[in-house]
Amino acid sequence: MHIANLSGRLALIDADGLAIDVERASSGRFAADPQAVYDAWDDFRDWAAHAELPEGVLFEPAELGSPTPQPRQLFAIGLNYRDHAAESGFAAPEGFPPVFTKFATSITGPVTRVALPEGGHTDWEIELVAVIGRRASHVAAVDAWSHVAGLAVGQDISERVGQLTGPVPQFSLGKSHPGFTPIGPWLVTPDEFDNPDDLELRCTLNGEEVQKGRTRDLIFSVPALIEALSSVTPLLPGDVIFTGTPAGVGLGREPQRWICSGDELVSTIEGIGELRQTFHDH
Ligand code: ZN
Repeated sequence: MHIANLSGRLALIDADGLAIDVERASSGRFAADPQAVYDAWDDFRDWAAHAELPEGVLFEPAELGSPTPQPRQLFAIGLNYRDHAAESGFAAPEGFPPVFTKFATSITGPVTRVALPEGGHTDWEIELVAVIGRRASHVAAVDAWSHVAGLAVGQDISERVGQLTGPVPQFSLGKSHPGFTPIGPWLVTPDEFDNPDDLELRCTLNGEEVQKGRTRDLIFSVPALIEALSSVTPLLPGDVIFTGTPAGVGLGREPQRWICSGDELVSTIEGIGELRQTFHDH
């Protein structure tokens, strides 16, 4: 099942790629607000599996918003691939993953224009995003996938000057400028993947491949992250986990490389779809 936010309304995307408005198709049983569906996730899945659905409508990717536009919590994981930890000059984490947040005002849909912060060094990080579908507190990894509503593509756009200057790093603020958290193009439920723990991620800048990896190389897999995070704080329906990025970011290059005005960044994950960001000066 593919769940989308089409112009601010919850939609199902059918096998032909057409959108079905959920509030209308369910005669109001499920609200139009895309964020509200996660609090009724089991009911919604059951309804969607059995409902007589009307004909879908065509849409443009730019009309999509984030499938989870206002999560109560957004967790982002640092250094979760060995090759990226090495290029960043850090030891790979052991025992517990490094965690920060991206503030919710930075969340956008999949196709956007993003302003480059003045005086900054703006970088790319493609990431698999997991969205929680069932409250998770002290959940063991073996039970974790049943708490996931679905997977999406995420870009953890990062301004490195703000992120790394000062007595301690400012991961959360440096990664929360307006438009720095595109999520989409829709949410794909875990049952749609042959193996949701092994998906190819790929990121291009102006058509040149800059990142390519597989989620099987995550140090902390999606289930391991849910076990770790939920051992500290409950994960709530609709919460977002940015799972970390593989090697190939601008920070780790020799010479270093940053996003420029006019650049186009395309971020793709196998079995999900793509994000497309273009950048302009502030
Ligand atoms: Zn990241």
